[in-house]
Amino acid sequence: MRIDSFKHKGLRRLMVENLRKKGIQDERVLEAMNDVPRHFFLDSSLDVLAYEDRALEILCNQTISQPSTVAFQTQLLNVQEREKVLEIGTGSGYQTSVLCKMKAKVFTIERFKPLHNSAQEIFNMLRLRPKCFFGDGYLGLPTYAPFDKIIVTCGAETIPQALIDQLKVGGVMVIPVGADTQTMHKIRKISETEIEAETFGDFKFVPMLQERKFC
Ligand code: SAH
Repeated sequence: MRIDSFKHKGLRRLMVENLRKKGIQDERVLEAMNDVPRHFFLDSSLDVLAYEDRALEILCNQTISQPSTVAFQTQLLNVQEREKVLEIGTGSGYQTSVLCKMKAKVFTIERFKPLHNSAQEIFNMLRLRPKCFFGDGYLGLPTYAPFDKIIVTCGAETIPQALIDQLKVGGVMVIPVGADTQTMHKIRKISETEIEAETFGDFKFVPMLQERKFC
């Protein structure tokens, strides 16, 4: 059982003020990030670093995205209550939890079993109910499609066609695209056959890998 102490809450408030200074303006995003105890998603040895604006190591050689990146992607996604959101790359479960706090119906896919399992334990602890899937995010979740929004939290070399297919017309996908570094893309599906893309600067994500691997 993890404790969310006054100290953690205080550090979290500072993190949120810092995000505001960095240009995050969506109060719903800031409120959700003020609510979610980020340190729960990290090894207890990283407790003191949990509220700094940095990516940190989680299981399976993966990373939890830095808070400003989570805030930026979530703000771009512009999630509304009850929207169906597909996340690729559950990882620690932190981004998933932020989306749940914003009252989205979240579906999330992870290809590493230990991460898939540990994230679910934390969701239970926080009484959050995203639908978690163990599998390959390149395939999306055709059974549950279409989605209002899709967020990809690993770096994709190209935009997976299956994910575009599973987006509603009028829907938005936020995805970092590129091999070594990634450019953040906001993709809007404007008809069954057309998309429109806007880009928002460079980021560094762990790669989106095609084959399911185990650790
Ligand atoms: N949203 C996460 C970010 C974790 S890093 C968080 O808040 O912690 C990105 C995650 O994407 C990693 O856990 C990695 O294993 C996962 N990933 C990479 N390629 C994937 C794929 N093809 N399908 C599903 N998950 C994938």
